[in-house]
Amino acid sequence: MLKDRGKQIIKQIVSPLADKVGVYDEKVQRLMGEPNRLLVLMYHRVIDDLASDPFALGMCVRQKYFEEQLAWLAAHTHVLPLTQAVEHLLNNEPLPPNAVAITFDDGLLDNLSNAAPLLERYRLPATFYVITGGLETGHPMWWDRAIAILACTQAHSVDPRSIGLPELPHPLPLGRNVRADSCKVILNALWERNPGAIEQCLEQMEEMLEPGPIPPALQARRMNTQQVQELARRGFQIGAHTTRHIDPKLLNREQLMADLGASRQQLQELTQQPVDSFAYPGGRSSVWMPDLLAALGFHHAVDTRRGINQAPASRYAIARVGMPDTPVGDFKRAIRNLQIIDATP
Ligand SMILES: [Zn+2]
Repeated sequence: MLKDRGKQIIKQIVSPLADKVGVYDEKVQRLMGEPNRLLVLMYHRVIDDLASDPFALGMCVRQKYFEEQLAWLAAHTHVLPLTQAVEHLLNNEPLPPNAVAITFDDGLLDNLSNAAPLLERYRLPATFYVITGGLETGHPMWWDRAIAILACTQAHSVDPRSIGLPELPHPLPLGRNVRADSCKVILNALWERNPGAIEQCLEQMEEMLEPGPIPPALQARRMNTQQVQELARRGFQIGAHTTRHIDPKLLNREQLMADLGASRQQLQELTQQPVDSFAYPGGRSSVWMPDLLAALGFHHAVDTRRGINQAPASRYAIARVGMPDTPVGDFKRAIRNLQIIDATP
């Protein structure tokens, strides 16, 4: 807890102060200024307040910081449409200095309600990777269901054997100070399971942990089909992110091919636009992935390796940087020593 507090003080106070006196600018300029580099930013959710992010898992940025980040990007970088920027990178054609592309994963409703209006205000293009399974019902994604149950339960611990996760240490404590850690342990265990088993574990969690009604801030609502269409109509790029967001290693080649094809086709029919960009679910891949993406005609794929891309880039392994829920000064601190990633072995 103390360590976390110390980190928060650095992120919220020290690094913005250091940035004000120009500590990071030279390094950031040296990193981003080269015409053969592209920084791809990764967001998941843009939230109204911290009630929607009970365990600080790094997937939420508050609206006030999101706007600050966009204002800085608009003033100091060249934000490009992702496919166009990657095409330049792949062909080793010069990009404008400080080239950036903005992406969002998963297709949460706050992308449309909170992020899109601010992107439009600053006239910035962006790519939204939408999970297609359950788009019609807007059923929350499996990890958001687990987070909501764990955030709302009154239980002080849980026996993992009673929720279908017998490999975890028991009992798993759910006290206030350790609940976020236990949440991460449970999510990692769920990542090892197929959709049927995940559903079963979640049902058992609901039964054992009795979360009661989930408050609106924790409902993690997803965009429905009309809302994805609206985002596309407003000029944003829609990318594929699989149908169920499970580890591709759990699927054989044929299942993976079918999943990628189905998610792409559904999004193309919905948006009436080509869907040529793909994001690996949770950054996870499998040996067949690049071949299948090429066979299906995807232009490129983004993953979650942290770094700045440099030509010659690897088409199906474009690196990204997860955006922090902090002021711009802290973002500069976090990227100033980024790894440079290219396709040379
Ligand atoms: Zn995702």
